[in-house]
Amino acid sequence: MITEFSKYVFTEDTMKQYLDNEVFNEFQNICNEGKELTADIADKVADAMKNWAMEHNATHYTHWFVPLTGLSAGKHEAFLSEVKQGNPIYAFSGNMLIKGESDASSLPSGGLRATFEARGYTAWDPTSPAFLLGTTLYIPTSYYSYHGEALDQKTPLLRSMQSLNKQATRLLHILGEKEVKNVKATVGAEQEYFLIDRDYYRKRLDIMVCGRTLFGAKPSKTQELEDHFYSRIRTRVMKFMDDLDTTLWSLGVPSKTRHNETAPSQYEVAAIFSVANVALDHNQLVMQVIRNVARQHNFGCLLHEKPFEGVNGSGKHNNWSLATDSGENLLTPGDKPAENIRFLLLLSAIIRAVDKYSDLVRLSACSLGNDVRLGGNEAPPTIISIFLGENLTKILEDISCGTKTADSFRSNLFTGVANLPSLELDDADRNRTSPFAFTGNKFEFRMVGSSQSIGFPNTVLNTIIADSIRYISDNIEKADDIETAAKEVIGTIYQKHSRIIFNGDNYSAEWQTEAARRGLDNLTSATQVYDRLLSEKNVELFKSMQVLSEIELRARQEIMLTNYTSLALIEAVTMDEMVARGILPACISYIGELARDEASLTSLDFHLPVTIKLISHLTSIIGGIDSSLETLSEAIQKVNEESDIQIKATLCTTLIAPTMQTIRSCCDKAEQILPSKLWPFPTYLDMFYKQ
Ligand code: ADP
Ligand code: MG
Repeated sequence: MITEFSKYVFTEDTMKQYLDNEVFNEFQNICNEGKELTADIADKVADAMKNWAMEHNATHYTHWFVPLTGLSAGKHEAFLSEVKQGNPIYAFSGNMLIKGESDASSLPSGGLRATFEARGYTAWDPTSPAFLLGTTLYIPTSYYSYHGEALDQKTPLLRSMQSLNKQATRLLHILGEKEVKNVKATVGAEQEYFLIDRDYYRKRLDIMVCGRTLFGAKPSKTQELEDHFYSRIRTRVMKFMDDLDTTLWSLGVPSKTRHNETAPSQYEVAAIFSVANVALDHNQLVMQVIRNVARQHNFGCLLHEKPFEGVNGSGKHNNWSLATDSGENLLTPGDKPAENIRFLLLLSAIIRAVDKYSDLVRLSACSLGNDVRLGGNEAPPTIISIFLGENLTKILEDISCGTKTADSFRSNLFTGVANLPSLELDDADRNRTSPFAFTGNKFEFRMVGSSQSIGFPNTVLNTIIADSIRYISDNIEKADDIETAAKEVIGTIYQKHSRIIFNGDNYSAEWQTEAARRGLDNLTSATQVYDRLLSEKNVELFKSMQVLSEIELRARQEIMLTNYTSLALIEAVTMDEMVARGILPACISYIGELARDEASLTSLDFHLPVTIKLISHLTSIIGGIDSSLETLSEAIQKVNEESDIQIKATLCTTLIAPTMQTIRSCCDKAEQILPSKLWPFPTYLDMFYKQ
């Protein structure tokens, strides 16, 4: 039994115990119906929170937020307000709960700080519960600049949820479902990660600094036998997973699924879905807690998108759907999807949104780490498309042609064994190759990177889908016959946007050709995508949906480019250091050893041609490394000298990345030649199997 679920969360039940009924009810109305929070209620809730937290040994509180670094942040303040004659006075007012003030100058602000003051504010998000981590009360907040520009992941997400709610509720009301009060995006994130022994972690500068290996020859066995996925979990890892779940549960994160993933030492944890902003907080906590618990078990946790070359990378499948206030999932097709107009309209809205704004969908999963992961034949390619399955595609096609779809009956699975239960088949098979797949009653956006915050991807999904629902409502609202108008708009959308639907193998070479024929973009690196954020179409979208202003978008674009460039430079410098101080000296010392051996053998009149062969092979490898290092340092200099951030970032993609790849392949060859005792770093074999 899970005994301590939400032990450290200021849940509704806990709040009830610490507040008068009247205040509690009023606060619930504020959260559920978006009413304004009064100073009086805020004071009372703050006091209740403080009392509960201090009874659990808390000494501090923090306004917890996700700045544009994507990593959670917060300044910790003691509950102390003053000292009277040596006695501490504790205080935590409504004002302290609602509003925090911080220096925005040391967090990414994308140029907003240059034009405005350095001051930043955090504002409490009362819809996501506060929790205790150690001795600190964590209060989920949004983060703004002095002039109210969003500087975080949460604010635009909340704004996009508001727009989506408005548009989806409007559509449902047009369809006659007047009892629906609100519609929320629901999100469930599956988090993939690697665990390696912490001793190896500490011995690899690339892992410590960049979160991924910049070198490493592929061992003879990795994932070829497909023997890691879902297999028996090693005892040491199981102990870690037990602690991970217990900690997450105590923090109210409903982690449910855990298993071995495809690559050796790769794992997954998935929490039960929640309303999008709470899911964001949950996933930020998952990332933080995985790292901490891993450390306690002497593991290093790698959240990077591609920590090891030659084996699967890690994603964060972002499952997305829509639910009404009564909890009904609006993406459930039901038994007769062809007659489920509400479902088909929402499906059409998503198809239009993903096709019209495919650049934004792609952009929302862009990062330096994902540049190395995507398109690797185990992660979705960089082409955005939607998997619907044959049945749903046929229904939409029939509507667009005006033909009636034959009733589709769900079939049962025949296992061939009489005493096994008969299983009802899903509407469609799974397509694990698609970046955006319909999986029965939700969409799974599989492109999102494992280390990424899910804030922006969900902001984009909510916003583009809200825009499409608005388009649909505008088209059918005034019609005399809503059903006929709905079918018309479904047909029109299908005709215009069906190019985005692809039910085949997204990893195949044919898809690349077919996608090009359909006019779909294939933007292979982040630096080809970042500037799309500011296209007229996208600026207009975010503005009209009241999610991000042009100033905020500009700031975000600058931060994305700056982050990308800084990380690329850090990787390049780390590589240079590891080669110069580790790999080259090891190679040279082995050549020396070989030369000495060769001299001794010759003096005894023995001749081992292999020694000379090895020396010359290694010498030529070293030559390759040396000249590529020079190219790399020139490239670094070029990037540093360039002032335009877009050009800087592009140079990282076009100059630095390929040069690093050349250096890496030379070093990996050297690793395969040098005796293991001379190789300066733990190898892939060590990290994958020696735990
Ligand atoms: P898979 O079989 O694709 O690996 P998992 O069980 O690992 O699936 O994860 C599925 C994720 O989808 C979970 O986080 C789950 O809570 C989430 N999910 C299920 N239903 C919904 C929904 N209606 N909205 C959003 N997410 C959902
Ligand atoms: Mg999963």
